[in-house]
Amino acid sequence: MSLPTEDTTVTYPSGAVESTGEVLHVQDLPDGTRAVLLDTTAVHPVDAAWPDQGADRAVLKTAAGSAYDVQDAVVAATDGTSLFLGADIPVKKGTEGWIFAVAHVLPAGAAVQEGDPVRIEVDPAYRAALSAGHTACHLASLALNRQLAGAWKKDVLPDAAGNPNFDALAIETSTITEHGSVDVYRLGKSLRRKGFRPEVLLEDLPAVEAGINALMADWTATGAEVRIECDGGRLTDLRRWSVDLPEGTVSIPCGGTHAASLQETGGIQVTLTAAEGDGATTLTMDTICVSPAG
Ligand SMILES: [Zn+2]
Repeated sequence: MSLPTEDTTVTYPSGAVESTGEVLHVQDLPDGTRAVLLDTTAVHPVDAAWPDQGADRAVLKTAAGSAYDVQDAVVAATDGTSLFLGADIPVKKGTEGWIFAVAHVLPAGAAVQEGDPVRIEVDPAYRAALSAGHTACHLASLALNRQLAGAWKKDVLPDAAGNPNFDALAIETSTITEHGSVDVYRLGKSLRRKGFRPEVLLEDLPAVEAGINALMADWTATGAEVRIECDGGRLTDLRRWSVDLPEGTVSIPCGGTHAASLQETGGIQVTLTAAEGDGATTLTMDTICVSPAG
């Protein structure tokens, strides 16, 4: 068995939904499915450390004429002797001496061998829906941060637009959905210690929500282009989501896929709900693209 010696080249950041490549490694997994590593892929895998955007739906086609569903796509890593998948990866992405790859999970018995040339075809409609959802998610978090800027009584880490980064400091889970996202925030003791006053948010949740939606309407009306800036073409290379908003350019590190412009989102709306959880209030922000392109 030969494990890859370079990180996978990924083409999804530029919006690619098709790629051709060579099979570098095939490994049978405990459940009988097969993990297939390629030199190049258009498939966006779910990230091990921050699994907000799920795997693409895709088909892998062989030169022999077989087509296999990519049942899952996860980040894998190797130290040259073993291959670790997803949550089993023992080191951070980019750790020296480790190679990071996209593992395409194919059905048991898939006839794919090392050295085979293969073609990848990603489901373009599903990808576009997740890309719009991911762009909406970033925009909504910026608008939420801005609406809550007055709720802080201490200086904290600013976001890409210079507002206190409530999103980064309070986020519990973020899930990109088709044409939307669900972000769950924890308004607990540690957030209060950092200077956040939850009452500012909770006293008039509808007003905060309306403020976010007004901002989103202004921002999406610009139809601004969304750029993905890459340091390189490998899975581990840093990428940034960048948009020119009326207030200035914002740039956020992100490994996901995105709409090509704010116009493609078809307008974005959020709904805020608060609930009492185990020892803390939870804020949920549901974000949807109102009438997305396509
Ligand atoms: Zn992102």
